[in-house]
Amino acid sequence: MTPAPLSAASAVSVHPHVGVTATFVGMPKFPEAAKAELGNTTQRRNLAHATGIIRTKRANVVGELDNWEELRLAAEAVKNRTLRNLDTYLLQFEEKATAAGATVHWARDAAEANRIVVDLVRRTGADEVVKVKSMATQEIELNEALAAAGIDAWETDLAELIVQLGDDWPSHILVPAIHRNRSEVREIFLRRMKEVGRPAPDDLTDEPRRLAEAARLHLREKFLRAKVGISGANFAVADTGSLVVVESEGNGRMCLTLPETLISVVGIEKILPTWADLEVFLQVLPRSSTGERENPYTSVWTGVTPGDGPQNVHIVLLDNHRTDVLADEVGRDALRCIRCSACLNVCPVYERAGGHAYGSVYPGPIGAILTPQLRGTSSAVDKSLPYASSLCGACFDVCPVRIDIPEILVHLRTRVVDENRGGFPSGEAAAMKAMAWTFADHRRLEAAQKAATTSHRFFGKRTTIGALPWPLSAWSSARDVPVPPAESFRDWWKRERGNRSEDGGPRS
Ligand code: SF4
Repeated sequence: MTPAPLSAASAVSVHPHVGVTATFVGMPKFPEAAKAELGNTTQRRNLAHATGIIRTKRANVVGELDNWEELRLAAEAVKNRTLRNLDTYLLQFEEKATAAGATVHWARDAAEANRIVVDLVRRTGADEVVKVKSMATQEIELNEALAAAGIDAWETDLAELIVQLGDDWPSHILVPAIHRNRSEVREIFLRRMKEVGRPAPDDLTDEPRRLAEAARLHLREKFLRAKVGISGANFAVADTGSLVVVESEGNGRMCLTLPETLISVVGIEKILPTWADLEVFLQVLPRSSTGERENPYTSVWTGVTPGDGPQNVHIVLLDNHRTDVLADEVGRDALRCIRCSACLNVCPVYERAGGHAYGSVYPGPIGAILTPQLRGTSSAVDKSLPYASSLCGACFDVCPVRIDIPEILVHLRTRVVDENRGGFPSGEAAAMKAMAWTFADHRRLEAAQKAATTSHRFFGKRTTIGALPWPLSAWSSARDVPVPPAESFRDWWKRERGNRSEDGGPRS
């Protein structure tokens, strides 16, 4: 009997924390969403614990290598070379993959990619597919498109399975259910597995071993039955036409080898020029993502091997605004990303706000620079993402392909400001104008400092000011504003040094 599908209806169910749908459509802007998420203490505890563990593991295995910085430079150089000649390498990849028996499709956007995949699945007569974890298919909302066509898409990565069964959103690139703890996972398995296939055992505990076993048994029947597998790819090697998937659980290997038909949706930035280039990335990726020296399962396939594995191999090369990103001289560096998620694990903003607040399948620092470039900055959430950072730079320090995320954030902030010039000035713009006017003349600045130091006495022993009036309230609502000092630096200098300059001579 075909199990009840996880339908499109379930995919848009109400999110437990912020009360909006699970497709990320219509998300509020980052500060609002983050404020709601900050109230979820369980999630904050889970995130702090999990990111702390991954951070330490990564630091340990990276610290073992004397040539880590050289590897980062090599990875950056390979990606830059690829992006400079992307058209050449893409055509080379198509030629090699086609010669090896694969069929290559080109998709301009999400709608086209979804149409291609749905048509390919329909042609097989299948009404379900098994999926390898794939950010590209989440980006284009492929599961929703398949559900609309009456095709069930079963996520087989353990964390993706938890997210799917929980009618939830992914909140981390590598560990999408990082916001869930073991007892929550047990509850989800007990409640949902029976609705969509083999039930979880009644005596299921929250021991990791028991939870993994329940997932394995639940998924096994789906692997053995599936006629179609769907994947993304971590890398696409141009000089051989090969695709590469790296994963930790072995579920990907099952999806890539058991079904008769394999469809891979691959972002065009995943290309690497040569097989030798792959060597660099297979060193930096596992260390940066899971904190492992080597990846547990690395699957590589080149077209069709007669009598072995899928006999119908399709590759959908996805643009979906990547060429727009490529056209931006600063923003294009984001296309170097290999989705390792190291930047998420070190980000103080991500650790507190969690992944859902970013309103996209790409959360954290990389999401803050990639999403507004892929989707544009017209919606409230996309406009707010470049500001979802303290610009501390920890993300750049760990990024294996050396993406200067703070630089791109500032670049995108400029874009947002430029796009919103004219019309009624925002509170921030009004405050900046007032500040510029004050700083433009030393007499005005001195008068402002005098007023500030005079106000000191009104605050008594307090060290911070509460809410400021509009437009400064936009600043003070989320920050502690210190009470002005009793004496300005200018007054202190006058008192201590009289009319002398810094080197002791008379002031000119
Ligand atoms: S931006 Fe860098 S650190 Fe972040 S996911 Fe991409 S490759 Fe990893």
